[in-house]
Amino acid sequence: MDFELVEQVTRLDGWLGEGGVVVLSGAGLSTDSGIPDYRGPSGSARRNTPMTYQTFTGDPLARRRYWARSHLGWRTIGLARPNDGHRAVARWQEWGLLHGVITQNVDGLHQAAGARDVVELHGNLARVTCLDCGAPSAREELERRLTAANPGFTAVAAAVNADGDVELDDAGLDGFTVVDCLACGGTLKPDVVYFGETVPADRVSRAFELVAGARMLLVLGSSLTVLSGRRFVLRAAKQGVRVAIVNRGVTRGEPYADLMVDAPLGVVLPNLAPETDTYRLLSH
Ligand SMILES: [Zn+2]
Repeated sequence: MDFELVEQVTRLDGWLGEGGVVVLSGAGLSTDSGIPDYRGPSGSARRNTPMTYQTFTGDPLARRRYWARSHLGWRTIGLARPNDGHRAVARWQEWGLLHGVITQNVDGLHQAAGARDVVELHGNLARVTCLDCGAPSAREELERRLTAANPGFTAVAAAVNADGDVELDDAGLDGFTVVDCLACGGTLKPDVVYFGETVPADRVSRAFELVAGARMLLVLGSSLTVLSGRRFVLRAAKQGVRVAIVNRGVTRGEPYADLMVDAPLGVVLPNLAPETDTYRLLSH
């Protein structure tokens, strides 16, 4: 680490040690787990248009295309494991430094690392819900049914996106069969918020509540491009809550940040361990 970075990390370490921190994480936190961030500096430009709620519900072919791609993408997302960044956040929570964890990610990796009470703004790909009867179900179960319904489906994904979508030509869709709700035969949808869909109001107000009660809002791996995440930074700045951002590349939160750390999360986060310092001091 160069001198400037060491200085930034030391400052952040001090603020983290004061406690009352709310973490707001984005795709950049999960890139080290093999889930690409298509907006980040290393992410390749995404070819697919992200699925919108209107297209998903209104167009059976688009739905079939979505599930075929998502079925392939799940092999990556479903197998992804938390990285040092997720583990650092879980550790801070265990040490009582966090007031809350809010994530824009749908990969469940915070919880896989041991974090609790995570506000999943955009839902979680591991859950499925029925648009007709509302029955919730597990993605693993749906994947078993999709595999059984498509024994000849051998398409291979070119690239996986952070939302579990992959790039696949329509020719690869040949013979792919979508399965429906076991309870009512209705349309199944992953329990994630699509473009064109609003984040459920109770989740948003819970997140605003956390920010209002925070001593610091710590943004990890988000370019804050979409308002869905950026509004929490705006709110924090307005309420006089300190804002720190650790992100690789440009973020739209910069004008509101008290501290910006432009460095790989995998380098910065494991070095933020105020408790460890205390422990080290006490044990000598
Ligand atoms: Zn149903």
